[in-house]
Amino acid sequence: MNLFYPSKIFITEESCADKHALRMLARMPNVPVEIIPDEKSVIRQTFGQEDAFTIGKRMVLLTRHRGKFFKPCPSVKEYVCCNYQIFHLAVGCNFDCTYCILQAYLNNPILTFYTNLDEALAELESILGSRPDQQFRIGTGELTDSLSTDHLTGFSEVLIPFFKRIQNATLEFKTKSNNISNLLTHDPAGKIIVGWSFNTEKVYREEEHKTASLTERLEAAKQVLAAGYKVSFHFDPIIHYEGWEQDYYAAIDRIFDTIPSEKITFISLGALRFMPKLKEVVKERFPKSKIVYGEFVRGLVEKFSVEHWSPAQIKLSVAV
Ligand code: SF4
Repeated sequence: MNLFYPSKIFITEESCADKHALRMLARMPNVPVEIIPDEKSVIRQTFGQEDAFTIGKRMVLLTRHRGKFFKPCPSVKEYVCCNYQIFHLAVGCNFDCTYCILQAYLNNPILTFYTNLDEALAELESILGSRPDQQFRIGTGELTDSLSTDHLTGFSEVLIPFFKRIQNATLEFKTKSNNISNLLTHDPAGKIIVGWSFNTEKVYREEEHKTASLTERLEAAKQVLAAGYKVSFHFDPIIHYEGWEQDYYAAIDRIFDTIPSEKITFISLGALRFMPKLKEVVKERFPKSKIVYGEFVRGLVEKFSVEHWSPAQIKLSVAV
């Protein structure tokens, strides 16, 4: 996998004073930088262009986040909640998966990193400290890939020491990258999980553009495990196609051939989720992808999901 570097950086005037912004800029010394009064006009201008996400994925925006950093994962009352909590430090992704729901969900196509990280950590510490009896499962990979840009953001270098001293929370980095260099320089003290989205070779090749290969992901998992991290795998999204069952069994075997099953903290399964608007985006941006022509049902929250939950899929969950 090639490490990502943007073709241009926008930074808001107020972010220029943030030490984390300066640290990120220092890691991209050859990238042109434009200082802007605020982010609104550059987001609006990029969003108005044809194929805004292709353009936005090549750029980086450094700005301050003005809302809450720590939020429950957006569940809805119609479904059972897994109580996952999200710590938002970035929005957008340099990878380009055909099925990525962010293409329909976000109104900012530019890969955006928040620079007021100290405020984010203070907010998180205050919430965790106010509920000492509750155990929190926290992830940073809801609106971005947790590690694909970690060589630029260095977020892991701040988060790992923070979570090591917090008693009532576990952090999970969720990724399709093998960008683990920063992780290997820290001792996670058993507090950090690194989770890889995993799929069949066909789904990786046809739908997960610019991501690390499955072999690279497994090699990275092996390395972080040896360095003291916990590892997890997410079959998400499971995609239905001719021959999918054999391919998913092969993918599971591939994991277990590399990582002993007793060393895996958990494996989760997820169906393909599809907001109605995403169909047109995928047809436009990825005309070769066939995922929009599968069988879908409209779910309780107006997202389309794959209809099939066959006995074979149930067996998959039992097997892991
Ligand atoms: S890795 Fe995740 S966030 Fe990034 S493009 Fe793929 S689905 Fe979207």
